[in-house]
Amino acid sequence: MARMQSLLKDKLHRPLRDLRISVTDRCNFRCTYCMPKDVFDKNYPFLNKSQLLTDDEIIRLSKLFVKSGVKKIRITGGEPLLRRNLDKIISQLSRIEEVEDIALTTNGVLLPKKAKQLKNAGLKRVTVSLDSLSDKRFGKINGQGIPVSSVLTGIASAEEAGLEVKINMMVQKDVNDDEIINMIRHFEGSGHILRFIEFMDVGNSNQWSLKKVLTKKEILEKIKQFYTVEPLDQNYFGEVASRFRIKETGEEIGIISSISDAFCSSCTRARLSADGSVYTCLFSSYGTSLRNPLRNGESDDMLLERIEELWQHRSDQYSKERRHIQDDKKRKIEMSYIGG
Ligand code: SAM
Ligand code: SF4
Ligand code: SF4
Repeated sequence: MARMQSLLKDKLHRPLRDLRISVTDRCNFRCTYCMPKDVFDKNYPFLNKSQLLTDDEIIRLSKLFVKSGVKKIRITGGEPLLRRNLDKIISQLSRIEEVEDIALTTNGVLLPKKAKQLKNAGLKRVTVSLDSLSDKRFGKINGQGIPVSSVLTGIASAEEAGLEVKINMMVQKDVNDDEIINMIRHFEGSGHILRFIEFMDVGNSNQWSLKKVLTKKEILEKIKQFYTVEPLDQNYFGEVASRFRIKETGEEIGIISSISDAFCSSCTRARLSADGSVYTCLFSSYGTSLRNPLRNGESDDMLLERIEELWQHRSDQYSKERRHIQDDKKRKIEMSYIGG
């Protein structure tokens, strides 16, 4: 069936360009803002093996997304490095000709074991999440008492393996906002771009409140007390972070401002959950299963039609409309299920 891939647009004229694949809903951390341990405890109904997409299913669906226009793939989770054979998945993804970029978001602690393997499989870059440089605080945030050095060692292994590294710091008011400058200083000269993320109201279990959000403007104000900051142009349409340069050091930083300065109008991202459902927005209430029709024997053309139809019907712009959405009981899918 002939398809006009470049013309596939959603209801707001946004093309499909990025795919975020969650390869597991499990994690070795229990970050308070993502998988608080009183909710994600031993009774939590994590996906079982038969519910998870197999490696081959991930590859097959990824190829169909690529046919629908996807050029960039990000592997996420849960903690993606917990997935067995991740290097094999990456190796196959990196052989898909039209894929221009494959990245991975991780908490970093398994990088010493896996960075080299992943690099050899074709991975070019990783984003490592690190919210604090204080062991006491970081241990509390990650809910498991894991020390900062475990993540820093992971970052060093990624460097050694030749992976490009970015650092994500999720900033919460009165939790770690006093560490923004320390983080900038710590990573100065490392070559790693540091990105600050506003605390988002993803899922239903992280006790989100607007009061806990340090906005992009407030983050910049804190930085400007010590540095001169100049805005940089977007690298490409749909880039999530606003980019800035710190004049005194020449370092680039980014701010991801889903709350205070929504970027829905250029959102070209689809998300595939670990059990094979597609979510057209991080704040979706429900996904659409591709795993079930796939396991029921649908052909590639039929599955492709489903993906394209889903995208054509997409009108999500939750962040842009957030302040008008009165129903704070809206069911939202958990971040660990579809990835950041
Ligand atoms: N486990 C990996 C990690 O932590 O990097 C990958 C998955 S995690 C869900 C992806 C990113 O989402 C992390 O950088 C994390 O800080 C961010 N994140 C999780 N919950 C968030 C929230 N409520 N608001 C903003 N960012 C959040
Ligand atoms: Fe795990 Fe990442 Fe969520 Fe923390 S943010 S609980 S590391 S999935
Ligand atoms: Fe994209 Fe939804 Fe986030 Fe808007 S709120 S940028 S549509 S994922």
